[in-house]
Amino acid sequence: MPAKIIDGKAFAATVRGQVADHVSRLKDDHGITPGLAVVLVGEDPASQVYVRSKGKQTVEVGMKSVEHKLDASTSEADLLKVIDDLNNDPEIHGILVQLPLPKHLDEDLVINSIAPEKDVDGFHISNVGLLGTGQKSMVPCTPLGCLMMLRDHHGSLSGMDAVVIGRSNIVGKPMAQLLLGDSCTVTIAHSRTKDLPDVVRRADIVVAAVGRPEMVPGDWIKPGATVIDVGINRLDAPEKGEGKTRLVGDVDYDSCAAVAGAITPVPGGVGPMTIACLLANTVTACCRANGLPEPDGLTA
Ligand code: NAD
Repeated sequence: MPAKIIDGKAFAATVRGQVADHVSRLKDDHGITPGLAVVLVGEDPASQVYVRSKGKQTVEVGMKSVEHKLDASTSEADLLKVIDDLNNDPEIHGILVQLPLPKHLDEDLVINSIAPEKDVDGFHISNVGLLGTGQKSMVPCTPLGCLMMLRDHHGSLSGMDAVVIGRSNIVGKPMAQLLLGDSCTVTIAHSRTKDLPDVVRRADIVVAAVGRPEMVPGDWIKPGATVIDVGINRLDAPEKGEGKTRLVGDVDYDSCAAVAGAITPVPGGVGPMTIACLLANTVTACCRANGLPEPDGLTA
């Protein structure tokens, strides 16, 4: 039987709808509008696209969107001042500093200067610690989106064998923590893992977050397993015209889809869920800041 395609685009639209409903209740019942501030330093073209998209979607769900676009040569002190002002702004409930930052800025220092309760990317060291100890935290958006799709597909994940390929702080490690929190038996594989194909073959759930185009072939996948492809890789596509490119994931889609029980496509899988979860985190942060109940199903 062909794998079920997990449609992240449709799922993200549902999440945005839930966020929009909650935002309108916050406005109507409490006179509160959740606010998200995005800080961009420099002119990295990919970051500019992400920031535009985040701002647009923030407004579409009824929240306040604030953008701070700073020059690439901005000093650390000036950036920290912008963050401090946002930390103290009662109309801002979520703060996101777009990564990567220019080389002269200390990324850890900058991220850890965001108030943890406004850290909607979930990268602050306090949120990392809270997640690792199973406490209420802000959860990184991409792994949160993967978890939502897995819960939606499987219901309970308890007792399942999960292999996360990749150990980055942004995706791999928090993904593993979330799966552990849902009682999976979790293996984190990485560039030094021995016998990676055999490790992956054990998995009921495979999450690939490597950044290597189509590196996981179908014969690594246990029949019926669920494959979540986080990778976003751009390949030349001369067949589409000169200079054209196409997006592929970290798994070889066709061969994996022939074996898997369910699979996320690239594009249209994990990608759209990431911004939807950013919006979800902002509404969650707003509810927590105001001592109000959090929306159901939008947190880990
Ligand atoms: P990263 O470069 O920080 O980490 C990659 C990880 O892969 C490392 O931990 C490394 O040990 C591991 N790795 C490298 N080569 C390997 C190999 N041969 N075998 C096994 N493991 C290997 O990357 P990241 O930030 O975690 O992102 C991973 C991918 O996910 C990238 O393609 C990125 O573009 C994509 N991404 C997508 C979203 C989204 O919204 N869909 C968000 C973040 C990242």
